Amino acid sequence: MTTPDAPALPLRPELADQVPYGAPQLDVPVLLNVNENPYPPSEEVVAGIAAGVADAARTLNRYPDRDFPALRQDLADYLAVESGVRVAPEQVWAANGSNEVMLHLLQAFGGPGRTALSFAPTYSMYPEYARDTHTRWVTGRRAEDFTIDATTAVATIEAEQPSVILLASPNNPTGTALPRATLEVVLEAAARIPAVVVVDEAYAEFRRAGTPSALELVDTYPHLAVTRTMSKAFAAAGLRLGYLAASAPLVDALRVVRLPYHLSAVTQAAARAALSYRDVLLAQVADLRAQRDALVAWLRRQHSAGRPVQVAESDANFVLFGTFADRHAVWQGLLDRGVLIRETGPDGWLRVSVGTREETQAFQDALTDVIAEQEQG
Ligand code: PMP
Repeated sequence: MTTPDAPALPLRPELADQVPYGAPQLDVPVLLNVNENPYPPSEEVVAGIAAGVADAARTLNRYPDRDFPALRQDLADYLAVESGVRVAPEQVWAANGSNEVMLHLLQAFGGPGRTALSFAPTYSMYPEYARDTHTRWVTGRRAEDFTIDATTAVATIEAEQPSVILLASPNNPTGTALPRATLEVVLEAAARIPAVVVVDEAYAEFRRAGTPSALELVDTYPHLAVTRTMSKAFAAAGLRLGYLAASAPLVDALRVVRLPYHLSAVTQAAARAALSYRDVLLAQVADLRAQRDALVAWLRRQHSAGRPVQVAESDANFVLFGTFADRHAVWQGLLDRGVLIRETGPDGWLRVSVGTREETQAFQDALTDVIAEQEQG
């Protein structure tokens, strides 16, 4: 409680009206709001992680390895299997979630007098990384279908002269992947500034066949950083482990700004143990992709207010759909039926994560009901 003579806190003025970031965490049966993998780890994986953590616990009196070479090697090995691209451990960086990896990028390459650029609508944490590092924040616009037009992107880059360009692929909340040709045009324009280009591939494992990963360009472009996370396909959101692949000099710059020992021994051990079960943990990804495609097809067959429901093309484990005259009413109607999705994205749109088959079915049943109720009312 504030007493009348308590001194005012010297809060940075730009933080005065800000609230902490976060989706509502509500206790309902069907959680399809934060793009998690709906399948918890098996008992076999739980036991493996527990054994790894127990080993780490035996040395907890010591600080962990600051540069975590073993984990970086394991992550490099995983990327080689997942995408066919082999990078050296020195080209890998990791932190507590890809959020922290991207904060490191802004700390090293953004800052006062500098600009970070992205293309809206996109992931709503990006402006917060910019705010927290005193970096000017600018957004260009995506096209109607949520793709980025290469010519417009280059014009925006040349006009704004950013030192960091953030591109989520697949993009959140739209699910849109970035074509290779557009990325190459952006990389060439960025090299002339120069700017670091961050391709945020948090959802890359869910990409459709034929959608390439930006990892394939890491060896060609020293100013490209491709971020990944164990929070989504890897079913380890609670672990807090994000990472990136880039040129070794780019990674070395991140080592300067990280706090010492930012990755705890427990995190390193749990991540390495989880990575050793990659086949089991990724087994559901193919199923989630197939479910995503089925969900897109189903949504496109629905009608609301006499119009077909629109659905953005998705390479992720979520789907953006709409538009609804009152999207909040639809969101609330679903919640009343025990299904939590996310009220995010451009006006009128809603985002739903792909769940287990039962959860996805529960969402479909609830949406059918909500739309029918609205048509009557
Ligand atoms: N990038 C995108 C596009 C995301 O949607 C998210 C999480 N919702 C993240 C990064 C951050 O993920 P994490 O910090 O869990 O790795």
